[in-house]
Amino acid sequence: MPLPFRNAISTEDDVPQLDRLLSIDTEADIPEPYRGTPIGAMLEYHDLDRPYESYTNAQLLIGMCMDNRKHLHIPDNFAYIIRAGGANLRYSEFKVSYAIGVGNVRCIALVGHDQCGMLNLVARKDLFVRGLVEGAGWTLQAAEEHFNNFAPMFEINNETDFVLSEVQRLRLRYPAILVAPMLYRMEDNRLYLIREQ
Ligand SMILES: [Zn+2]
Repeated sequence: MPLPFRNAISTEDDVPQLDRLLSIDTEADIPEPYRGTPIGAMLEYHDLDRPYESYTNAQLLIGMCMDNRKHLHIPDNFAYIIRAGGANLRYSEFKVSYAIGVGNVRCIALVGHDQCGMLNLVARKDLFVRGLVEGAGWTLQAAEEHFNNFAPMFEINNETDFVLSEVQRLRLRYPAILVAPMLYRMEDNRLYLIREQ
């Protein structure tokens, strides 16, 4: 079901700061730690139209937002994908561990995007509550409590900063795993690496 993310209130934070993004226009744009890895391959498939290879096992884990407007160009069987609002994997840890422990992946691509509905959640509280009351048969009180309890866990301030902080957290939690911060731009449907210091 399409989510009403198009109703998102626009803020200045909605516009990605382009100087923080690394555009992948040729293979040479993929920086050293990622080149030749499944993360590099993912960027080549999506941004450079690299011909699809066939895979029998997942090569990496992709964490991305649940937003309905994004579509990745990657081959079948290439990746595990965990979709959660804001590309926030804090509450999906068991699934991340499963992809590593059982699925044997050694790379994670964390993909945020601009115009994310998890940004400035509080501005959408009325919409959220009304939708649950009218659409799901909840009481007003239950819907309000639900929002108030969970919105602080999912709210993000700025997509780019959030992805970087989440990538840092994942690197500490899974020190042997290669983790890459990416941003998907709605305007051109391309993937960008987020520059780190
Ligand atoms: Zn989103």
